[in-house]
Amino acid sequence: MNGSREPLLRALRAAVGARAVLDDPGSLLAYESDALTLFRCKPAAVVLPENAEQVQACVRVLHEARVPFAARGAGTGLSGGALVPEGGVVIATSRMRRIRSMDPSRRIAVVESGVVNAELSRAAAPHGLRYAPDPASQTVSTLGGNIAENAGGPMCFLHGTTGPHVHALDVVLADGRRECWGSPTAATDGFDLRGFCVGSEGTVAIVVAATVRLIPLPEKVVTLLAAFDSIATACAAVSTIVAAGLRPVALEVMDQRAIRAVEASTYRSGLPQDAGAVLLVELEGPAARVPGEAAETEALLRAHAPLRVERAENAAQRLAIWKGRKGAGGALGRLGPDSYVMDGVVPRSRLAEVMRFVEQVEAESGLPVANLFHAGDGNIHPHFSYDARDPAQVATVERAGARILRKCLELGGSLSGEHGIGLEKQHLLAEQYGAEEIALMERVRRAFDPSGLLNPGKGLPMRRGCAEAFHRHGRIAS
Ligand SMILES: Cc1cc2nc3c(=O)[nH]c(=O)nc-3n(C[C@H](O)[C@H](O)[C@H](O)COP(=O)(O)OP(=O)(O)OC[C@H]3O[C@@H](n4cnc5c(N)ncnc54)[C@H](O)[C@@H]3O)c2cc1C
Repeated sequence: MNGSREPLLRALRAAVGARAVLDDPGSLLAYESDALTLFRCKPAAVVLPENAEQVQACVRVLHEARVPFAARGAGTGLSGGALVPEGGVVIATSRMRRIRSMDPSRRIAVVESGVVNAELSRAAAPHGLRYAPDPASQTVSTLGGNIAENAGGPMCFLHGTTGPHVHALDVVLADGRRECWGSPTAATDGFDLRGFCVGSEGTVAIVVAATVRLIPLPEKVVTLLAAFDSIATACAAVSTIVAAGLRPVALEVMDQRAIRAVEASTYRSGLPQDAGAVLLVELEGPAARVPGEAAETEALLRAHAPLRVERAENAAQRLAIWKGRKGAGGALGRLGPDSYVMDGVVPRSRLAEVMRFVEQVEAESGLPVANLFHAGDGNIHPHFSYDARDPAQVATVERAGARILRKCLELGGSLSGEHGIGLEKQHLLAEQYGAEEIALMERVRRAFDPSGLLNPGKGLPMRRGCAEAFHRHGRIAS
């Protein structure tokens, strides 16, 4: 937006009220990046609608004015997805936090898109229910952001990522029309438009509300924590457990650097600091079945000569262990002024190999890397600590990240498990897909948004003009 932005701001204020339009530089600062600070671009304005009708009104104004825009939940995204190019407007859902209804008999809830993930499970608990997808950011991240990224989490090994837990979506299209995709029963006739939207990184529509599936709280839960001398042994134990046909709810690995960062932080949970890695295995289900499965799992863990195995059975012990795992991302913030948390996938059987490669890249880069990952899904998250004020470190971290992602592809994996492509990885997408596949994806996107105004530049390779609109600290890693 240039000197003529006053009419647009006036129209947005008319749509949502003057206090719900932010355009002063101080307020906008909070919206210039998400949790991946490699990218920054301050929006021209942020609007804070309170309901679907206000979202629609804002979108109509922006569409009419040909101004690019994007939805934003909590801004915890790790691929730069919620940024808009210069002159663009952010539609933040932080005031849309109502759980519209909960139907325990049908095990569904209708929630506005700004509802925080953990708040939904908290509200469902008195009915003996919960919302299964549990990103480690769940105390902050929103259902809208989770849907847009098809978020995963530790418990998604058994329950699956966000997609299967979303029955229907109430959406606003790029031109301001409102539609309902899917159905409360999850039955789909014809094309699954709901499915196109889940994981589309906010490029297909703005979700204003969702009908989501709730599942019963488990009757019995057992959490095992096994400490190993190395990350390779922890990965081997993961493969053994899965090969034996066991279906834990979570299989999570943390390396020594992550363990030590947790133990030095407020998330301290008594993890063994002498271990090369720890593996968390959680089993849940009927009280008659879980103890047997836990015993079988423990025997398999012991076959890999662990330094020790602990078993948490009550809620307090389990919470202590998960506090460490879920707080690890925050704890690692103490290792450097900036973080680059990566996301890539390899077949589970190649985990040890990719971890060796990460170690090699770490040694060559000279930057500390911690690893904590959803091992059951082969979903790795090398966490680089660096200083963005030093351009050499920025260039190093970008190059290192691109090497690791290429290694994931080489091993038969993919560029993203759950953080999305965003701005971060769009330049690598042509290495995973052929030109025709990418062109088809672009045509699908165009079918939903012919204007190209809804979250431009995300998820697919950018056109030159768009690439220049976003400021990246370093240069795009090649
Ligand atoms: C410490 C930490 C731990 C994390 N752990 C995990 C994890 O375990 N698993 C995981 O999957 N991710 C994880 N993440 C990444 C992040 O939390 C997820 O991607 C989350 O789903 C983003 O939600 P958000 O509300 O913050 O969305 P934002 O960051 O605000 O937005 C993310 C994307 O969603 C789009 N979007 C937001 N709201 C809407 C809407 N209403 N309609 C349409 N599009 C929308 C945005 O345009 C953007 O493209 C973690 C992040 C951090 C910082």
